[in-house]
Amino acid sequence: MATARKSEPSFRASVNTLFDNAIRHLNISKGLAEKIRVCNSTYTVRFGVKLRGDFQTFTGYRSVHSEHAEPVKGGIRYALSVNQDEVEALAALMTYKCAIVEVPFGGSKGGLCINPRDWSEDELERITRRFAFELIKRDLINPSQNVPAPDMGTGEREMAWIADQYKRMNTTDIDARACVTGKPLNAGGIRGRTEATGRGVQYALQDFFRHKEDVKVSGLKGDLKGKRIIIQGFGNVGYHAAKFLHEEDDARIVHIIEYNGALSNPKGIKVQAAKDWFSEHGTFKGFSGGTFTEKTEHLFEAECDILIPAAMEGVINLDNADHIDANVIIEAANGPVTAGADEILRKKGTVIIPDMYANAGGVTVSYFEWVKNLSHIRFGRMQRREEEARHRMLIDEIERATGDKVSKVFKERYIKGADELTLVRSGLDDTMRNAYASMRELWHQKRSDDANFDLRTAAYMISIQRVADSYRALGL
Ligand code: NAD
Repeated sequence: MATARKSEPSFRASVNTLFDNAIRHLNISKGLAEKIRVCNSTYTVRFGVKLRGDFQTFTGYRSVHSEHAEPVKGGIRYALSVNQDEVEALAALMTYKCAIVEVPFGGSKGGLCINPRDWSEDELERITRRFAFELIKRDLINPSQNVPAPDMGTGEREMAWIADQYKRMNTTDIDARACVTGKPLNAGGIRGRTEATGRGVQYALQDFFRHKEDVKVSGLKGDLKGKRIIIQGFGNVGYHAAKFLHEEDDARIVHIIEYNGALSNPKGIKVQAAKDWFSEHGTFKGFSGGTFTEKTEHLFEAECDILIPAAMEGVINLDNADHIDANVIIEAANGPVTAGADEILRKKGTVIIPDMYANAGGVTVSYFEWVKNLSHIRFGRMQRREEEARHRMLIDEIERATGDKVSKVFKERYIKGADELTLVRSGLDDTMRNAYASMRELWHQKRSDDANFDLRTAAYMISIQRVADSYRALGL
């Protein structure tokens, strides 16, 4: 994979440039724009854990970008590349992300400089609990102030440790479980959270393809069926997006690019089989359902209909933007396209579905989980059976009145009351559709004057305006 040229601005500067592109279209004072742009605070902690017979020192961050709504929300990333600039850029994106999908949170993000593969599970638990301790005692993890979630390198397991650590330090807090989202079900999680970001990417693409006018701008035709897709990053987000697009929309996943090699199959990769192999062997090498290549740079630039970067930031940059051969890029990762590359791609006519919207499925379902934790009851528990009884009554009445039998498949599907997973998916789909509707309306309105006006600027404009309105209401 190409790394960004030295002349390319940092991730944080890149986010600021995209922010400034949008501010130009808005009637917001310079002072308020600056208040929204800056990161409110970043806490850096260096803590020690005694492991392998000696003290090991770790560096972690928790950044709060905007507290116009609280709690603030944002994942915790485990990677050696974590640094203050990155955490602040990601926290800023969280503010805009929550605003675009109307989730009532401010933006935050955390990170720990660590390669999780270097440590055993027991060691990771001790490191995570110690990091959590440092953040909890400063209210940087707190159900009403700051609620983390998983990000790159973390998942359900780490969230369960954090939730338990919080509970141990706040034994009488009845809402303790709401201090973090993305937990396993048995620790207060919600059905559908693990798949949520990838599922949101699928819903975003489905809605894009529902609008023929938008598909036409990208130069594509038809629906998702048979579309050639390249995915970079086969972790939580990349795997779920690939799986749903392949299994439910009949799209063709032609390349999956991982850090240690890629898998290709022009007829379409069987995603679940590829995942099973990758989970067992840690590589695609040896998998019979496609061709393995160690060098992956050229594949990222291969011809496709849709490119899904789902690994990390800055992967589409000044070095390779000219060579990207996709009609649509959907940013499943945060910040995969640098500001410089964004300009090149905009001029080329590539449609970019921006990160703040495309990967908002995670924070949306996190919001549902937080609400579930605060209400202390599973969604659907009160109404499901009552709904089923009413539906059954209607079917029985139709059958009695007509003397005909309703088909078994219809009957089963119609009668079934909505369980938690159904409600979560429905809420996520609704959220993605509403957010897209507001973005595309502005996109088309502005495009009539400026053919280069893009979805990202529309998304920033809507988010910034919403944050500005909150600040104005707060009297700042
Ligand atoms: P993950 O750790 O589960 O998966 C990331 C995958 O990318 C891993 O399989 C890793 O090996 C691979 N990868 C790393 N470097 C790579 C490279 N250079 N080339 C190819 N593959 C590489 O992380 P995730 O949770 O899936 O997050 C991925 C991206 O999505 C991040 O940008 C994250 O901020 C963003 N995101 C995640 C969530 C979420 O709910 N997990 C929500 C919103 C956004």
